[in-house]
Amino acid sequence: MTALQPVRGTRDLIGEDFRRHQAVTDAARRVSALYGFEEWATPIFEDTRVFSRGLGDSSDVVMKEMYSFEDRGGESVTLRPEMTAGVCRAMVSNGLTQTNLPRKVFYAGPMFRYERPQKGRYRQFHQIGIEVLGAAEALADAEVIACGWHIQQELGIDDGTVLEINTLGDAESRAAYRAALVAYFSAHRDALSHDSQVRLEKNPMRILDSKDEGDRVIVAGAPVIGGHLTEAAAGFYAAVRRHLDRFGVPYRENPRIVRGLDYYSHTAFEFVTDRLGAQGTVMAGGRYNGLVEEMGGPATPSVGWAAGIERLSMLLPVAPAAPRPVAVIPVGDAAEGAALDLLQALRRAGVVAEIAYRGNLKRRMERANRIGARAAVILGDEEIVAGVAQLRDLDAGTQEKVPLAEVPGRLG
Ligand code: ATP
Ligand code: MG
Repeated sequence: MTALQPVRGTRDLIGEDFRRHQAVTDAARRVSALYGFEEWATPIFEDTRVFSRGLGDSSDVVMKEMYSFEDRGGESVTLRPEMTAGVCRAMVSNGLTQTNLPRKVFYAGPMFRYERPQKGRYRQFHQIGIEVLGAAEALADAEVIACGWHIQQELGIDDGTVLEINTLGDAESRAAYRAALVAYFSAHRDALSHDSQVRLEKNPMRILDSKDEGDRVIVAGAPVIGGHLTEAAAGFYAAVRRHLDRFGVPYRENPRIVRGLDYYSHTAFEFVTDRLGAQGTVMAGGRYNGLVEEMGGPATPSVGWAAGIERLSMLLPVAPAAPRPVAVIPVGDAAEGAALDLLQALRRAGVVAEIAYRGNLKRRMERANRIGARAAVILGDEEIVAGVAQLRDLDAGTQEKVPLAEVPGRLG
């Protein structure tokens, strides 16, 4: 049989790749907890209707990127392309929409989208994200953004990203803006890409987000929403910016920021970088006020973001190192029992410790060096009788006798 390969657009996370991934997840989990977020896990596949809710859906994700299939029972299920819809579904399914609001949720896990694979763009990728569900206040928007920025600071990547914010206004502002966009893009219809001609019919705002070169030229001259905002929408946006200033989060206003999914309103934002080529958005989010309702719950104003773990991983300034173990080395069969006792005492004391499954002293020392051990603890018959071990510092090359009971403390 020919050697099998991972499916196109999927990758194995091994060694340094996994450690980078884990460093991102760990930092996000730790920092979001400081902001009062609680971690949730929802299923990786859902009823297709969780993601595709009828004719109003014109996003790329819903139209062409979903991994949907019929299961053996004839149900249409979809591998989740994002987590927000699943979290909102879970709010309703678990009866959480009426009490203890707002709910503050953190998540991390794999997502699936049928896209053209390239650097920073995969068919199985991973996201971290947070959602505040049931809060209509601008302070929630600012806190969510501040938390995302804080995570990037912890990761040491904040000097390479810029926060761009915009408002999509309320329903009234959007209707007025939509009319202005339709008028503008209709006048340039023939020059638009096929995808954008479709968007013009379904959701003209999405054209602003087009990655097509030709579209971008036309988009550059499109009207901006600023002139179409109601007083309430403008006031909300001003409050978000005021809170961001207070939190000390730097930002740049960009009237071209829209969100890929259709249920967003008011705040939209992205953290972008010029260090990842075309895949420059690392964290993206905004306010969505109608999604829990679409899942059959009550109106639940919410705000959140999602970030691609692969893209954040690529920005990490230094690769996290693997922990360096201590090698426990028995010399002769009689020493093995005492070596196993010491091995477990080290692990119980929180010291990463390994023992080779076989081999003489020379072989075991070679292996200790190969696995990057920082120290070797050598136990022979003489040492056991004397109640000591030879402790060898493999970096300095020095060796000394240490009483057995003191070994874990010395290596901790
Ligand atoms: P893009 O414009 O890059 O397609 P998007 O608007 O589809 O992004 P969102 O749905 O907002 O992305 O997802 C949030 C984040 O998840 C993105 O900013 C990105 O970091 C990451 N992401 C999205 N799709 C992929 C993918 N196919 N592979 C890797 N990361 C992804
Ligand atoms: Mg996309």
